[in-house]
Amino acid sequence: RRSVYNPTGFESFNMGGKIPLGLKRKGLRIVVTGGAGFVGSHLVDRLIARGDSVIVVDNFFTGNKDNVMHHFGNPRFELIRHDVVEPLLLEVDQIYHLACPASPVHYKYNPVKTIISFFIALLIFIIIIMMMMMIIITNVVGTLNMLGLAKRIGARFLLTSTSEVYGDPLQHPQVETYWGNVNPIGVRSCYDEGKRTAETLTMDYHRGAGVEVRIARIFNTYGPRMCIDDGRVVSNFVAQALRKEPLTVYGDGKQTRSFQYVSDLVEGLMRLMEGEHVGPFNLGNPGEFTMLELAQVVQETIDPNAKIEFKPNTEDDPHKRKPDITKAKELLGWKPKVPLRKGLPMMVSDFRQRIFGDQKNPAT
Ligand code: NAD
Ligand code: UDP
Ligand code: UDP
Repeated sequence: RRSVYNPTGFESFNMGGKIPLGLKRKGLRIVVTGGAGFVGSHLVDRLIARGDSVIVVDNFFTGNKDNVMHHFGNPRFELIRHDVVEPLLLEVDQIYHLACPASPVHYKYNPVKTIISFFIALLIFIIIIMMMMMIIITNVVGTLNMLGLAKRIGARFLLTSTSEVYGDPLQHPQVETYWGNVNPIGVRSCYDEGKRTAETLTMDYHRGAGVEVRIARIFNTYGPRMCIDDGRVVSNFVAQALRKEPLTVYGDGKQTRSFQYVSDLVEGLMRLMEGEHVGPFNLGNPGEFTMLELAQVVQETIDPNAKIEFKPNTEDDPHKRKPDITKAKELLGWKPKVPLRKGLPMMVSDFRQRIFGDQKNPAT
């Protein structure tokens, strides 16, 4: 059965795009792959609140049931433990494809510094290789399967790509027309090239099979429910400051990133899905910070006495990153609203709760 995609979600979608007054919006059926993860779970909250029926497909590799548990028992919510590398048969209107082991721990890990014995080193090496293979296979085979699903049922498909497709960019800020500067054989390439291939597949299914697609290039995002120990800089600094550990700045700390609060991203993803433009669209906050500046903001927010410890940087670390969001502003009417100094405290309360639970927090 081929369902007809109804972008407005209103029963009257075939009436010249106009919704007669008094007609109620019909909830959509939506799949969110990776919906038990950090970004996915916030997206699910918004979709459920809007009145849609949501099916989360997740293998819990980096995600967690706790992130969506508050929807258990809601008849409009379903959770399926499934690896998107395997085919999936469902009938829905929209597919938000987020599933991807996004944690950078494997390539941020510096074995030379931490090796205890040869056998532990070997074990770590094997785990890292397996994780890299999982990332590339999920990005390629998983995306292919979800595109195949979208093609069969006539659903609209949204890919969450990444600013990493720009690699170590030679253009600043990055515009969507920039093709990037990626090392295809580097330690990060399983992620960068995996997402680039996912974008290619998405456009091929759009051009070749007429699948309605959307591509978001997401810049560094932070907020509640972020994995505490996955090695990303905001989660590292916040957890370190709360635990009274030094903030680990890699390299000289002069490299820059632009940090977006998760609710802004979710708003951008939903506008992209509902809008008429394929993309790619940069979704990020143009507020740019060096890692030393970020450490300072974390100190101001959590603990002014937190120490900073410099550590060697990892290979191929991009020097600068900042989105040009002109296209998203013009075509999606979207721009981020939450600056770092407003968003960080909301993430800190969530981390406090998860790290210390009910115990007294030594950082307060
Ligand atoms: P996350 O790790 O919290 O979420 C990813 C989810 O996908 C997890 O729940 C994980 O269990 C699930 N998953 C992984 N492999 C799977 C598989 N094979 N089958 C089914 N489920 C699988 O990461 P996130 O930060 O929420 O990222 C969501 C998406 O946004 C990812 O595609 C990521 O590449 C992209 N993105 C995120 C950021 C960011 O800063 N958070 C930046 C750029 C792009
Ligand atoms: N696929 C899926 N669910 C569907 C339809 C397809 O998981 O409902 C998978 C299918 O297993 C295949 C991939 O999507 O591996 C691509 O499907 P497509 O029909 O485009 O290619 P084909 O199966 O013809 O090679
Ligand atoms: N970084 C850091 N300390 C940390 C973790 C990361 O200084 O504890 C740096 C890292 O070298 C990079 C930046 O912070 O320059 C962003 O790293 P993250 O892994 O969060 O995101 P990505 O590199 O994927 O943009």
